[in-house]
Amino acid sequence: VKFPKRSKRAAVLGCGPAGLFATHALIEKGWSVTIYSKRRKSEMFGAQYLHAPIPGLTESEAQTIHYNLAGTVGTYREKIYGANAVTVSVEALEEMHPAWDIREAYDNAWSRYFPLIEDQDVTPSFLLALTGNDLLVNSIPLNSLCYQRDAHQFHQTSIWAYGDAPERGQFASYRPEPFTVECDGTPDHAWYRASNVFGYVSMEWPGGKRPPLPGVAQVVKPIFTDCSCYQSRKFINVGRYGSWTKGVLSHQAYETAAKL
Ligand SMILES: Cc1cc2nc3c(=O)[nH]c(=O)nc-3n(C[C@H](O)[C@H](O)[C@H](O)COP(=O)(O)OP(=O)(O)OC[C@H]3O[C@@H](n4cnc5c(N)ncnc54)[C@H](O)[C@@H]3O)c2cc1C
Repeated sequence: VKFPKRSKRAAVLGCGPAGLFATHALIEKGWSVTIYSKRRKSEMFGAQYLHAPIPGLTESEAQTIHYNLAGTVGTYREKIYGANAVTVSVEALEEMHPAWDIREAYDNAWSRYFPLIEDQDVTPSFLLALTGNDLLVNSIPLNSLCYQRDAHQFHQTSIWAYGDAPERGQFASYRPEPFTVECDGTPDHAWYRASNVFGYVSMEWPGGKRPPLPGVAQVVKPIFTDCSCYQSRKFINVGRYGSWTKGVLSHQAYETAAKL
């Protein structure tokens, strides 16, 4: 791919879905972009689907996702967040949702924007020395970039997640109905969510004891931060880890960057 010469320069931090969807929006808006990140494709543990399309990256038609909740929202919430003061909306677990293929969009973004990635360990001191950009868009976990860790809080919960990995021949033996998300708010099962979306099964268990299934990974779910290390109009946090905020979805990185 040839990228034409452009005038405004942006640095994007992180090459997961949030970083590459933001890159896509910036390139469309005429920015010159360099991506600084460990150059490895994201496993996207837990991620199920895009909640909105990304023009130019999503190709497949939208599908309808059906949610089935067993048990109660209270027990479901407790399994994920424990004592953390976090609410979970009943509606989100009962409604039907339109869905676009997040892996297809990320694959397309990866093959298109791979040449823009500089393999780089990003640290606070690297950022201090990084000059010549009109804009920094960050999707790297904000807790790793915060330079006042004693003063700033990073609330999070930890879960276990499993995702099909066809490239490794890894497929879950338990497979919900296609385009279904099963939410388990009963005390009977350890897991709290299992989904089968666009052919990929993902499952989630509460933190604590590792579920006895090969391929599970411990995953952090950010909840909230008061970190103010990078508050500037030139530094924008995107993605759930970059903004360290509960419930942030991948497509929002595209929408945020498209407004810059
Ligand atoms: C359980 C769970 C379910 C989710 N489900 C959905 C969903 O269905 N739909 C949805 O839109 N979102 C979902 N999300 C949110 C989020 O979109 C996904 O977690 C997504 O996979 C994360 O993408 P990301 O680009 O923000 O982060 P990542 O994929 O983690 O990418 C971060 C990038 O930064 C790089 N990096 C990290 N640290 C450094 C460093 N110090 N130096 C250099 N590079 C570094 C990594 O190598 C990686 O490239 C879910 C999140 C969780 C936890």
